[in-house]
Amino acid sequence: MKESAILFKNVSRVFSVRHNDIAGTVKAVDGISLDIRDGEFFSLLGPSGSGKTTSLRMIAGFDRPTSGSILLYGQDVSNLPPYERDVNTVFQDYALFPHMTVGENVAYGLMIKKVSKAERQKKADEMLDLVRLPGFADRKPAQLSGGQRQRVALARALINHPKVLLLDEPLGALDLKLRQQMQVELKSIQQRVGITFIFVTHDQEEALTMSDRIAVFNLGKIEQVGTPAEVYEHPATTFVASFVGTSNLVSGEVAKRITGSDTRFSIRPEKIRLGSMSDKIDADMVSADGVVRDVVYIGLFTRYLIELEGGGDLVVVEQNLNTTSMDVMKAKSQKVRLIWKKEHVRHVEG
Ligand code: ADP
Ligand code: MG
Repeated sequence: MKESAILFKNVSRVFSVRHNDIAGTVKAVDGISLDIRDGEFFSLLGPSGSGKTTSLRMIAGFDRPTSGSILLYGQDVSNLPPYERDVNTVFQDYALFPHMTVGENVAYGLMIKKVSKAERQKKADEMLDLVRLPGFADRKPAQLSGGQRQRVALARALINHPKVLLLDEPLGALDLKLRQQMQVELKSIQQRVGITFIFVTHDQEEALTMSDRIAVFNLGKIEQVGTPAEVYEHPATTFVASFVGTSNLVSGEVAKRITGSDTRFSIRPEKIRLGSMSDKIDADMVSADGVVRDVVYIGLFTRYLIELEGGGDLVVVEQNLNTTSMDVMKAKSQKVRLIWKKEHVRHVEG
């Protein structure tokens, strides 16, 4: 196994807050342990307020743990100031210097280090090539689009070859199409430079697309760490099952009727086949009968809401292989048999 780039050892960060003149505390990060490996594209994924930014700020040194420790390549940096850590941060608002040219912005870290002007220009040009902005060195940030500014911020953060690059929702301000394009590009840049990237996002699709591994945050804790496939296919908890992708969660009596046990389980909508009442069920399959209550045609696929006999409902998505929008609408109010493989049933905690 590769060396640890970042190690969190039981890290907590508690903030003191005042509300209506009453003093209280917020546990922004609550006893997190985490091992991020050298060269990984690692995402911190979770809803707003789950502790992602606080975790990132503690890696950067802008904030410090209330308890626990953080190691950077084996060195305890918990109490080191930001400039003594070999990490750099890209912020969502880019934070470019408006009065400087693009080239000067990118070379800023080298100027601080008193690198010669010729060397700075050479390095800045290399970085602008890397982020696909060759020839942009003499422009001003105001003359760039949002996506281009984002690339400049990235080039500026990478020019000193930090050991770890921290990115806090860096694509949040871009429109969907540009964001998807930047996701692919960011990943490819990371692979070329080989630097450990720690990427914060609340967008599960973004995390699944880009990451080698993902930590799923909820209420200051980590619910699961895994590859995109592991987190998606084997959600460890109810929270992960519902936050990452769409999931059907079934418990109690309804679960018992389907699987024979009342343990709560999740089943992904795309694993379920919409069959008819005459379909036979093989030994490795499970089924549930119900009525189609809602049909939404979404071009690539159709989403069905099925009300189960005896209560509860399940979402099913099917690819529109041979069906048109007219065909799928006919399914409404029909009795159907839902069939899926036992192996796709995931028992979840919490
Ligand atoms: P995320 O980045 O996942 O949205 P944050 O790490 O920013 O979450 O915040 C986690 C929790 O800590 C939130 O409840 C937030 O309000 C609180 N918090 C963050 N920073 C501070 C602060 N400086 N003072 C008080 N509370 C804070
Ligand atoms: Mg945040």
